Amino acid sequence: MLTLPPFQFHSPKSVAEALTLLEAHGAKAKLHAGGTDLVPNMKHRLFTPEHVIGLRDVAELHRIGERDGALAIGSMVTLADLARDERVRAIFPSLSSAAAQVAGPQLREMGTLGGNLALDTRCVYYNQTYFWRKALGYCLKKDGTVCHVVKGGQKCVAAASNDTAPVLLSLGATVRLQSPRGSRELPLDQFYVADGIRNTVLEPDELITEVRVLLPQGRLVTGYQKLRLRASIDYPALTVAVAAWLEKDGTAQWIRMVISALGARPHAVKRIEHLFGKPLDAAAIDELGQAAYKQCHPLTNINVDPGWRRLMIPVFVRRAWQQALAPGPQ
Ligand SMILES: Cc1cc2nc3c(=O)[nH]c(=O)nc-3n(C[C@H](O)[C@H](O)[C@H](O)COP(=O)(O)OP(=O)(O)OC[C@H]3O[C@@H](n4cnc5c(N)ncnc54)[C@H](O)[C@@H]3O)c2cc1C
Ligand code: SF4
Repeated sequence: MLTLPPFQFHSPKSVAEALTLLEAHGAKAKLHAGGTDLVPNMKHRLFTPEHVIGLRDVAELHRIGERDGALAIGSMVTLADLARDERVRAIFPSLSSAAAQVAGPQLREMGTLGGNLALDTRCVYYNQTYFWRKALGYCLKKDGTVCHVVKGGQKCVAAASNDTAPVLLSLGATVRLQSPRGSRELPLDQFYVADGIRNTVLEPDELITEVRVLLPQGRLVTGYQKLRLRASIDYPALTVAVAAWLEKDGTAQWIRMVISALGARPHAVKRIEHLFGKPLDAAAIDELGQAAYKQCHPLTNINVDPGWRRLMIPVFVRRAWQQALAPGPQ
């Protein structure tokens, strides 16, 4: 049986109290939201914090509602509540769909949006017991000096495996971060960095308090597709999130497409602006699939064949756009 390392548990009742604890314990502390990622990682000795700060009793982080033309979602909103929320289902169906596809039902009742966005990157050589990692000689991301995925590589390429991140990126969301030093709001695009060791700009004393997504003024269409081995409970091997703003005549004013679960950060597909102002038809969707295929190169960071994952990119791009453009509720 895997046991937890010793730690002191704190249960603040407000953001202010949580920040005081972060100020006191900083780098020696870890935040615990639903614990569905943190606890297994602690059992694997990937994290051995002296202090664990539980956020469950911080009521102000559990709110979800419309404010200043945006949907504001507290970081402690559970994935199950996010998936069930009528406004999210109606306005941002891809977000509801992504939340509903994280792990399995019990984990979604515990797991939160904040924990999902701050999810540690994953790799077949890292998400293992201490004994397993020690036998291998560890790796760059934790306790070692070499990468087993990219031989001679100086950078960790463990995969960003969070389902809500690519969708929120495709929706142009922002995150609010609070620390004892103050507060900042960042476009989610600036929150992630291409470093599998730590793929966010979150400082050790910072807390995600809220995610904001602007409410659309026109016709927003969205789609989300996830490739995984077990549909009932599994991390993604590939994810595709798409969003577009359609004019009355069916032309796309803008298009966003994010591919994830391949490398250390989600990838926003580039050089697609020439399709803006044109109909989002089968030829355009095919072109989007090819653009994504050319820009994405899966690695052996998970136990799924990288060649197959790459071939699935245009297939999942097509499915995501078909889902986005289908009439009726998704
Ligand atoms: C069997 C299994 C399958 C899974 N499948 C998937 C999957 O398919 N897709 C997927 O996305 N995830 C999956 N997960 C991972 C996990 O369940 C989810 O990502 C979940 O959303 C994590 O949220 P949490 O609240 O439990 O985070 P926690 O475990 O509490 O925290 C995760 C990390 O985020 C940090 N953190 C938490 N809240 C905040 C905050 N407010 N501010 C700053 N940092 C914070 C923690 O310190 C920790 O480092 C799976 C887990 C298991 C065990
Ligand atoms: S990608 Fe390389 S450095 Fe990163 S976790 Fe995997 S083996 Fe370790």
